[in-house]
Amino acid sequence: MPSAQCPFCPGSGRVPDRYDVHIYPNDFPAFSIPAPEPAIQGDGFYRVARSYGRCDVVLYHPDHHTSLPELSLNHLLLLVRLWRKRFVELKKTPGIRYVLIFENKGAVIGVTMPHPHGQIYAFPFIPARLEKEIAAARSYWQAHRRCVFCEVLRRERRDRRRLVAENRDFTAFIPFFARWPYEVHIYPRRHVGSLDEFRPQEERAFAEILKRVTMKYNNLYGFSFPYMMLMHSSPTRGRFPYFHFHVEFYPPHRSRRKLKYLASVETGGGTFLNDSLAEEKAKELARIPPSKTLRDSNGRKSLEVRARLSRTLRTPTRGRRCD
Ligand SMILES: [Zn+2]
Ligand SMILES: [Zn+2]
Ligand SMILES: [Zn+2]
Repeated sequence: MPSAQCPFCPGSGRVPDRYDVHIYPNDFPAFSIPAPEPAIQGDGFYRVARSYGRCDVVLYHPDHHTSLPELSLNHLLLLVRLWRKRFVELKKTPGIRYVLIFENKGAVIGVTMPHPHGQIYAFPFIPARLEKEIAAARSYWQAHRRCVFCEVLRRERRDRRRLVAENRDFTAFIPFFARWPYEVHIYPRRHVGSLDEFRPQEERAFAEILKRVTMKYNNLYGFSFPYMMLMHSSPTRGRFPYFHFHVEFYPPHRSRRKLKYLASVETGGGTFLNDSLAEEKAKELARIPPSKTLRDSNGRKSLEVRARLSRTLRTPTRGRRCD
């Protein structure tokens, strides 16, 4: 966090003086267009390429002290539409093969800017984990002529033990194969590959389920719950009829005070140890009321939650408005 002023706040000179949601080009981009020459020369064995692509910061709100679950549904809808618009623009950009929309939230994840924001990386290649997921979806499709994600959805909705929340168009659950204790996935019930295929009512339902899940996270331990949130979409070049858009949340908390660290077995062995049962954690989250800030009109309750959140959350930069 720059000491003088938050660059994402209106009045900083770096963003419009008035905005509701806004795309801000990353000041320290990993990828750019045009891309600089590689810093070193490669050879036939050690290959190098230009870091071609885009890195955006998505500003969720002009208020420095708010966060995704605290935004109104109408405001979240603006955010969903901005994600979609930017996704389409980046998809059309020559040389872009994958558009990854994500959010890192919380100091324990390494976030230095407390202003509510997410990011979008437009890659010149398909990131490795996505490539693996896509390959798995392709082989299931070839063997069963069915979308593996639709099959997961069907099983989860029938079983119900791992469900966290649902609305008309989306289902949130902790997958059978969760790596993190509170790992929630959100699937659209209709088979769609990416955000740009959403119908208007699905955009609204998506905003609603995002708010509901993140509010449950906050209410779980009474503090703003850190997480990594990623939107997994179809790649932007080629046909992927077997891919099904979804969101994956990875919160690092195992309990109120304990974090899950990626230590030797996870980092060096590539094997996640998860000492909790998806069924138990899903039951916990399903029971947590999301209603306090979901009901925007209920001022009293909403204030209660805000007071509780700011007590537990107060960080050194919090409380000092940067405008
Ligand atoms: Zn700010
Ligand atoms: Zn599907
Ligand atoms: Zn995925």
